[in-house]
Amino acid sequence: MSKLVVHAKIMIDGVSDTPKKDQLISIEDGKIVSIEEYHETNEEVIHANVITPGFFNCHVHIMEPVGFGTDKKFSLMEKAFYTQKHCEDYLHSGVTFIRVLGTANDYDMQIRDCIDSGLIQGPHMLCAGRCICMTGGHGWQDGIEADGKDECRKAARTLLKEGVDIIKIMATGGVMTKGVEPGSAQLTQEEMAVIIEEAHKAGRKTATHAQGLQGIKNALYAGIDSIEHGCFLDDECLERMKEQNTFLVPTLCAPQCIIDKGVENGVAQYMVDKTLKVKDAHVESVKKAYEKGIPIALGTDAGTPFNYHNNTAYEMELLARLNIPNMDILKMATINSARCVGVEKDYGSIEVGKQADLVCLNENPLENISNVRKINRVIQSGKIVVDNN
Ligand SMILES: [Zn+2]
Repeated sequence: MSKLVVHAKIMIDGVSDTPKKDQLISIEDGKIVSIEEYHETNEEVIHANVITPGFFNCHVHIMEPVGFGTDKKFSLMEKAFYTQKHCEDYLHSGVTFIRVLGTANDYDMQIRDCIDSGLIQGPHMLCAGRCICMTGGHGWQDGIEADGKDECRKAARTLLKEGVDIIKIMATGGVMTKGVEPGSAQLTQEEMAVIIEEAHKAGRKTATHAQGLQGIKNALYAGIDSIEHGCFLDDECLERMKEQNTFLVPTLCAPQCIIDKGVENGVAQYMVDKTLKVKDAHVESVKKAYEKGIPIALGTDAGTPFNYHNNTAYEMELLARLNIPNMDILKMATINSARCVGVEKDYGSIEVGKQADLVCLNENPLENISNVRKINRVIQSGKIVVDNN
């Protein structure tokens, strides 16, 4: 039996509205077995200034190297090595759980299996495999193209057969595919409804890339579980999201990184132009969603241009710029995200019985959200996977 005892001077548990002082967290075989007021003990104790649950990133493209514009091509071998580095980037930025929303073939599932078998170190992963899009639609290069209800049902069943944890569908165009309008609706409500029906029958959640208003509505009325990006949300969308408890994963990082770097660093002109068109509306949508109490989960869309795999802290900073309180941002990055991806029974908070995924910070992120960057240790399933001492 492996044991670990951690003393938190300040514990932000992911579910409480206020932090707790001087807590002693006991971990056995990867799980939290007790949380008590701090007291003397014979066990060896690790001390930490501030402890939060491990962070989530609910929207990543794990195999995509970043820090390049759009023209550079990578071989599969290069991508494999990059992937190993990305896995380390997540852990080193306190992210112990990711949801991969789109790779070619079933590569993400193979990576997940490499992590689970101990071959490489990386965060817990849920995988979507290939996304489902309409013929020629957003993401078609690595996706399954499907048109009409029968093809969509078949595509969903094919992915479930391959072992995906979640199904990702494309409700609208996007910034990344040349010649495709980000606002245009793509898969229809009827097409998405059969995909969602198949996913739900198999106990899987669904997520959709959705930027434009009509596509978002189509996805919402089809019964989608999470809206990714959600650049143009109107009152009807927000009402519907609230009613059916649909999550929003804003991925503010993705457009921000494209704008931060611009054409002078190699981002394609068409991408910068499209991004500038949607950015203000995007920020407004996220604000309105927060004010309305729509559940928001944290995702960055890492793997898009200059959107690094250790950008989860940046996403939190961008949310803070919208005047969202730091405690709420931390909940978005932990328990909300766990709920969004359906693993809240085992992950997302510091509670007895849950997996011991913990981030030890040197300074308090409630005072300044950027303190999530000041990582002392990261513990995943009771094992210290990052130690900056
Ligand atoms: Zn994405």
